[in-house]
Amino acid sequence: MWIKKDEIRAAGVDVDALPVVDIVGSPRCSVQGCGARGAENHHWAPREAFGADADLWPTDYLCVPHHDRWHETMTTAVTTAVNNNPRSKS
Ligand SMILES: [Zn+2]
Ligand SMILES: [Zn+2]
Repeated sequence: MWIKKDEIRAAGVDVDALPVVDIVGSPRCSVQGCGARGAENHHWAPREAFGADADLWPTDYLCVPHHDRWHETMTTAVTTAVNNNPRSKS
């Protein structure tokens, strides 16, 4: 989404006080040592699992490789944990 500076000013916002990242419109990855631009908004509480409560949890920007890695790693970890839990085998 791109908002013209004039529209932001009309809404009473001091454009020059905004963080640079908002003006450029390309958020940076929050992973230490990365900071790649074009990051995606990541919900720490996925909507599929938390439903409407997902919006109560924090979000962060992650670049595509880090975002993919988080979801792949967590999916693998959860799957492994379930498979190793004897109670889940019926
Ligand atoms: Zn995500
Ligand atoms: Zn990254």
